[in-house]
Amino acid sequence: MNISEVTISNIRSAYSGKAGRCCCGCSGKYVYQERTRELASKWRGYSVDDDEINEKKIASILKKIQNDPNSYNEGSHIALETERKLYIVYLVGENEGA
Ligand SMILES: [Zn+2]
Repeated sequence: MNISEVTISNIRSAYSGKAGRCCCGCSGKYVYQERTRELASKWRGYSVDDDEINEKKIASILKKIQNDPNSYNEGSHIALETERKLYIVYLVGENEGA
């Protein structure tokens, strides 16, 4: 999927954290949204909690990624690394639906 074509409904989860660090969640935060919550819970193997749902945050991460030409598309996810921050949106798989 083209970076410019991605909308929030294509996103399973989003991450923002420190650049050049581990992405397990110890140096940043994953956020989820209601419409792909079940999918994300299955994908990671345990339930997404209410306090992890943050659609506004996902939208703001997506905007940063779409507005920066340095973003790179890895197929299953799109990432952007700035001097200090790492942003990632994980996309819903083509056969998963949303
Ligand atoms: Zn870690």
